[in-house]
Amino acid sequence: MPSSTEYICADCGSLLGHSNPLTLQSMKDIHNQLCIVKRTKILAESSMKGTPPRAVKSQPVPSLEQQNKTSSVAQAGQPTPTLEQTVGTAPSSSPATIPSPTVGNTTISLTGSGTDYSKVDGPIDPSFKTKRQNAGTFQGIKVWGPVDPPGQLGIWGTEVCVDFDICVADGACIEACPVNVYEWLETPGHPASDKKPFMIREKDCIFCMACENVCPPQCVKIFQKG
Ligand code: SF4
Ligand code: SF4
Repeated sequence: MPSSTEYICADCGSLLGHSNPLTLQSMKDIHNQLCIVKRTKILAESSMKGTPPRAVKSQPVPSLEQQNKTSSVAQAGQPTPTLEQTVGTAPSSSPATIPSPTVGNTTISLTGSGTDYSKVDGPIDPSFKTKRQNAGTFQGIKVWGPVDPPGQLGIWGTEVCVDFDICVADGACIEACPVNVYEWLETPGHPASDKKPFMIREKDCIFCMACENVCPPQCVKIFQKG
């Protein structure tokens, strides 16, 4: 019998586990949308009855690209872009890792003279978009100021937003994300942590809220496209 922190798919036997029940539910929903055994059974049932196949779930089905990434959840957190990813340079990646999307515009540097800062306490301000200015972009991802690297990095993202000045880099969001939106970005010299979850595949987000729910200092805010 699975415990309250586990879920075993009745069709394919896959075991999912997470200590946060909200995250486990998200993982279960995603799995039920993607389970190939479940889908095969439904198609077989439908062809026997001569009816169109019923949907596994009412939620939107992720794209093929997202499905491929979901099967590689264990690779989350790789690779790590280097500190010196300034204007126009690409992140390093090993052949075995999921490639980053095309690198977008970068106007934010991670190095500078801003070393006189202390760690900021959570949670993230959910109204930050009306209070902060756009400070630039890093590989196409929007950054909201004030920014004074390396000690003050601001809030990063448009739909998947993380306050880098609060993040303590425990990695819970990266582990929880079913579609591998994040990868580590090295930020040496920052008072809260020397790496941050960079939402490089922000456009792949399926708004499951798992990362927001698991973040201990509550520095993640997800905005669904309106
Ligand atoms: S809300 Fe988006 S970024 Fe966060 S875990 Fe879900 S898919 Fe990943
Ligand atoms: S869960 Fe929160 S504190 Fe932990 S790495 Fe992600 S954003 Fe940072």
